[in-house]
Amino acid sequence: MKQAGIIIEAEHGQVKETSLGVITLAAKTADFLTALVMDGITHEITEQLAEYGIHTIVDLSLPEAPAIRLNPAVRATAVVQAARELNLDRVLGLSSPEGKDLLPRVAALLDAPLVMDCVDVDLNTGLAKTSQYSGKVMAQIQLTGETLVFGVRPNAVPPEPRPVPAKTVVMTENKAVPENITLLSWDNGDSEGRPSLVEADIIIAGGRGLKNKDNFSLIIDCAEKLNAAPGASRVAVDEGWVPYALQVGQTGEKVSPQVYIACGISGSIQHFAGMKTAKMIIAVNKDENAAIMANCDYQVSGDLFDILPEIMKQL
Ligand SMILES: Cc1cc2nc3c(=O)[nH]c(=O)nc-3n(C[C@H](O)[C@H](O)[C@H](O)COP(=O)(O)OP(=O)(O)OC[C@H]3O[C@@H](n4cnc5c(N)ncnc54)[C@H](O)[C@@H]3O)c2cc1C
Repeated sequence: MKQAGIIIEAEHGQVKETSLGVITLAAKTADFLTALVMDGITHEITEQLAEYGIHTIVDLSLPEAPAIRLNPAVRATAVVQAARELNLDRVLGLSSPEGKDLLPRVAALLDAPLVMDCVDVDLNTGLAKTSQYSGKVMAQIQLTGETLVFGVRPNAVPPEPRPVPAKTVVMTENKAVPENITLLSWDNGDSEGRPSLVEADIIIAGGRGLKNKDNFSLIIDCAEKLNAAPGASRVAVDEGWVPYALQVGQTGEKVSPQVYIACGISGSIQHFAGMKTAKMIIAVNKDENAAIMANCDYQVSGDLFDILPEIMKQL
């Protein structure tokens, strides 16, 4: 009987779609699913978790004060305490910015093997599927050990409802603040209410073809109309047009939206490493021989400075 603990990410009092996807993935091969919730439980969160197949909801009841609650060492310790107490032999979370900070700490404290950026896992056998070498190969990685930890690529698995009766448990152990990490500040970024890059169903990204920072507002405006997240190639980031948080690729975020619209991006292997698992890729480019044009679902051939305003008009 595999007992999976799933670290839940929530926002505005709701479980993120991407976390529900992790539950759906875990439900394929685990017998018993436990949700580990760190930032407070609402009625809506409880209902969502039961709707998607969670048997036990654990409220880790971290202190309200952000300096303690958001301290990654405090969070990792809370997860590990729950995993030990509840005999969770599989721990899963998102390969999101938070997960990338948290899961390696959890794995280290549990002395367990970890694989990040999984697109599939079998919790019975410990086999994980993950992209490696900038997306050049899809690797199957076999983890061995009593307890295994997996980071799942956001949006790799669409959530599917699977209602079960869920019970809630509150764990109130003292969450001591470690002396070696002090959280000085927390910046939620300036996404201005837009969906985050790793969560978004639609991403519209810009590259060198935008030519300068002012023109990048075309991408931001289109993103707002589409309720999409704006993204960028490394060139756009290196040029200082947008912050690094928007970079997609090998050294940026790995994203799997339903639709990825690449504007003025050539489609380097390093960029592809971050978005090749998008369900649909649309390329807007004036060079028909650009690599992205051969690796997309829809080509829009032409000057983005004509095409984007036209799309805005149509929207
Ligand atoms: C170790 C390493 C890690 C890297 N990590 C990343 C990463 O994480 N993410 C990333 O993106 N890159 C990364 N890179 C950089 C990568 O190799 C490319 O240099 C980069 O992706 C190119 O960005 P681009 O497509 O915006 O620019 P370019 O390759 O210069 O392409 C610009 C495109 O815009 C088109 N264009 C120009 N004007 C217009 C117009 N008016 N209308 C329509 N189309 C137009 C051109 O035809 C061209 O195809 C990395 C490189 C290295 C070495």
